[in-house]
Amino acid sequence: MAAAAKLPQPDAGAGWDEAQCIAALAQLERLKTQLDDLRLAIPRVVEPFYSPPTPAMFRAFKQGVIGSQNEIKSFRNQWHDQDTQAIFDHARKSMGQNPDLSASAQVQQYGWIEKESREKEAALLRKDGAQEAEEAQVALTQEDISRILDDFHKTYPNLNLTTENGNHNIMIQFVSTSASAASRLRFRVIIEQKANGQHKLNAECLGTADPSPAITRCIASRPQANDLKYLLDMIAAYKTVKGTSCAKCKKMFDNEMIAPAARRSKQVTDANETSETVWEAFHEGCLD
Ligand SMILES: [Zn+2]
Repeated sequence: MAAAAKLPQPDAGAGWDEAQCIAALAQLERLKTQLDDLRLAIPRVVEPFYSPPTPAMFRAFKQGVIGSQNEIKSFRNQWHDQDTQAIFDHARKSMGQNPDLSASAQVQQYGWIEKESREKEAALLRKDGAQEAEEAQVALTQEDISRILDDFHKTYPNLNLTTENGNHNIMIQFVSTSASAASRLRFRVIIEQKANGQHKLNAECLGTADPSPAITRCIASRPQANDLKYLLDMIAAYKTVKGTSCAKCKKMFDNEMIAPAARRSKQVTDANETSETVWEAFHEGCLD
């Protein structure tokens, strides 16, 4: 413990960066906590003997023995674990290079487990932020929107698409016969322009009865979340995909008796080597 505890000093990482040192100290702290708990192993085993000899006493004794055995086993496994042994190796090497451990007195013994989980959360947030920025980079101009809507009318002349608010509120409705029964589906897409030139697409399948809420969730979890053309094609796929069964489990209904509520695309290359987009139906629970 003392040897590894000096790791976070600026000159004492011995080749490890701060994150590695924190992770190692957190692992040692976990081992120390387990070891502290094991001090109670014997008292736990003998405690039932203070009460009269009954079947309940024997059960408590048995539980105490099994519980303590499991704790010892778990500690041994962690101790022999590759990661733990790597920490000891590193500490031995570091001590070989510099046996002066006086700096370790400055290093706190506890709090490394919390510090490690805080660092991990922060790293995840940074990653999410980077991903969002990447997805939102494509700007969507007024001309882009008009062109995409024109293309939609040409590609799907039978689908009713109307707009309001300068093409920023889009309504699409049609009767879908791809579910078990014909049902009228109404979709609303709102293009939210942000001050920094980026945009957000909010899409909803209106209505509170099945399958509308499931469809809304499946659209919300779509890939290419900022691509308007992709979103409109996905909505159109609720009309055009005739197959009523799920492309993954091949069944018509899921456990909740809901027909496939999701549409996802894949690229298919035909004999002439031309690639085209094909839409398939999936249950909400069958999405990756
Ligand atoms: Zn399925």
